[in-house]
Amino acid sequence: MTKPSIVLCGFMGCGKTTVGKVLARQLGWQFVDMDQLIEEQAGMTVSQIFEEKGEDAFRAMEREAVRRLSAKPSLVIATGGGVLTFPENVQIFHRAGCPIVLLDVPPEEVVRRLQGDTSRPLLNVPNRLEAIRQLHAKRLPLYQKAADLQVDATKPPELVAQNITLSLKSNKFSRNG
Ligand code: ADP
Ligand code: MG
Repeated sequence: MTKPSIVLCGFMGCGKTTVGKVLARQLGWQFVDMDQLIEEQAGMTVSQIFEEKGEDAFRAMEREAVRRLSAKPSLVIATGGGVLTFPENVQIFHRAGCPIVLLDVPPEEVVRRLQGDTSRPLLNVPNRLEAIRQLHAKRLPLYQKAADLQVDATKPPELVAQNITLSLKSNKFSRNG
């Protein structure tokens, strides 16, 4: 028996990578970070892809990664911040039976967590809190629309991961059976 992969979404800094690794370890599954996968395949960083090839090219790479990953079982997939703002990507995961989990954290906590982090192209701006608030307000409704489950991700990573497993065990989240 194989299980459809679990997809984590949410704002940058919400803990997709951190919680995803813990969850994968707890389940004995493999963890995949979509941004990292795309970077490895392109041989460039996400920032470089944005700069040299443009956002449209990056979104096409994301869509291709969604298609390939959704077909594989027993993965914990951390999506890039923009992936699930596109209904087409949401549909691909859902058709494959993959539950989508939203890790919820307020913008103020995001700012705290990402202090000193210069690797996020969208945050290289003078007023970070304001930029995060605006982007958060724009993306949250899209994430909520995509998600089958929303969890409080301000708790410690081990607890967040356990809450995800417990919530997904209830049958209404097993889309394929
Ligand atoms: P994402 O992959 O969603 O962008 P990360 O997993 O990289 O987020 O986490 C961003 C930062 O926040 C990291 O420094 C990480 O250690 C910290 N962090 C993540 N989840 C938690 C948590 N549940 N509690 C406290 N700090 C966290
Ligand atoms: Mg990450």
